Amino acid sequence: MLVLKGVGLHDECAFYMRGKEIMIDMKDIVALCKRRGFIFAASDIYGGLNGFWDFGPLGVELKNNLRDQWWKSMVITPPLGLDGKPVQIVGLDSAIIQNPKAWIASGHVGGFSDPMVDCRETKKRYRADQIIVLVPKDTEGSWLAFEEGTDELLKRKKMVKFWGSNILNTATLLTKFDISDYDKIIAPDAKKAGTLTEPRQFNLMLDTYPGVVRDDAHKAYLRPETAQGIFLNFKNVVDSSRVRIPFGIAQIGKAFRNEVTPRNFIFRSREFEQMEMEWFCEPDEAKKWHEFWIEERKNWWRSMGLTSDNILMRPHDADELAHYAKEGLGTYDVEYKFPFTDPGFGELEGIAHRCDFDLKAHQEHSGQKLEYFDQPNNKRFIPHVIEPAAGLTRGVLALICEAYTIDETRPSGCYLNFLPALAPKKAAILPLTAKDEHVPIAQKLYMELREEFPVDLDIKQNIGKRYARQDEIGTPYCFTIDNDTLSDSTVTVRDRNTMKQERINLDNVAKYLREKIKPVS
Ligand code: ATP
Repeated sequence: MLVLKGVGLHDECAFYMRGKEIMIDMKDIVALCKRRGFIFAASDIYGGLNGFWDFGPLGVELKNNLRDQWWKSMVITPPLGLDGKPVQIVGLDSAIIQNPKAWIASGHVGGFSDPMVDCRETKKRYRADQIIVLVPKDTEGSWLAFEEGTDELLKRKKMVKFWGSNILNTATLLTKFDISDYDKIIAPDAKKAGTLTEPRQFNLMLDTYPGVVRDDAHKAYLRPETAQGIFLNFKNVVDSSRVRIPFGIAQIGKAFRNEVTPRNFIFRSREFEQMEMEWFCEPDEAKKWHEFWIEERKNWWRSMGLTSDNILMRPHDADELAHYAKEGLGTYDVEYKFPFTDPGFGELEGIAHRCDFDLKAHQEHSGQKLEYFDQPNNKRFIPHVIEPAAGLTRGVLALICEAYTIDETRPSGCYLNFLPALAPKKAAILPLTAKDEHVPIAQKLYMELREEFPVDLDIKQNIGKRYARQDEIGTPYCFTIDNDTLSDSTVTVRDRNTMKQERINLDNVAKYLREKIKPVS
């Protein structure tokens, strides 16, 4: 067995941001999220619950802002389509629990599972396709397995580069090597080799029993994705609205997956939110629309402030195709370089070409016709579907990681560089002292601004501490009322990123903010 020593965590978390090599430790981001009220462990006072998280006062604002941006870009002002005219997309909010037959038709009951391996020694369970196996080239029998995303793995990957070895996952290993090779794999936390079982399937849907009877006949599921609610309502939407092909139906909402290894903060949780849109089009046009949405979605994530270096578009390999995509038309992922995936990337969104799989399956299982009638050409057909499926909670994590900027020159040591349009608070109003003369002016300004923007009025503590707090929560502007305000009616504006200060007239503050907090284009 190989023993590795002396590789520090920080060596492995180097994370390339804004042209500067900066060390980011995920623990610092998690601590900031708790300290400032972005994200808490669910049931924190009872020790938490693995895979569940609560969004605090600022986290919910940030999440709502990202959600609203998505809704605006899909439903309110959708993009211009292939003919240069705005495309048509309508919204939906379907139930979390649907008739369980829907999940049989969709393939989730039969196929929505991950291959799992158990460790006989530690009793831990891992996803077989995420345990990475390092195979040293000199093959002296030294095989090691580590779970994707763990600090241990990051260390080993670096060492592997050094040895010039190969990296495989256990799922690939199964197809390439004899099962007896399992004897040589050392599981992530195990002491001896050969403790992993062969992979087994594990269904990811959480079940529940609506009503009083708790038996298999009454079992229902918490939806593992929002997409199926859209397919179930395809006919309702076509019959009740004036949509004509091509068109989309968009939905944002909670999804639940009994993930075997929830981890990396809110990246992989058991309850999360998705933003999904199903784009229904003519089969012949599906390829063009697939390309269209791949481009649109990449640009959208960039417009949310994720820099190009940290965003990657990746086509799925043949062996990762989902149960609906066996025909090979494929999925493209928008991936983001999170600190814990660095130097690799983690999925933010998948843009899948689902053919007519879902509508056809629901038509077969429900006995209801789910064809579209094209009146001008007098033809009926089942539309093909392009699905951009994004994670809202994962998106929030990407925004926080991207915004997290270390700056040792300021008291907070860091600040969150959110786009003003996404920042939970757009401005803070700070009377320099809690003295009587400063406070009423601050209160008046606050009452005016809050009609238009989410703003903070923060009166107590020294001004340095108050700036530090606003830096840490990513507030782009601070307006300070001081003695000069009393004589010339001007206030100080402090810019979060540059820390530069300028004076503007009190009457111009709202106009100033309006110009600065531009909608995302
Ligand atoms: P992964 O490979 O990471 O498990 P997936 O390919 O199964 O993701 P999809 O079914 O395509 O994910 O779901 C669409 C999006 O929903 C993902 O891109 C991701 O952003 C989000 N998502 C999926 N599972 C989770 C989860 N357990 N926690 C948080 N977000 C998730």
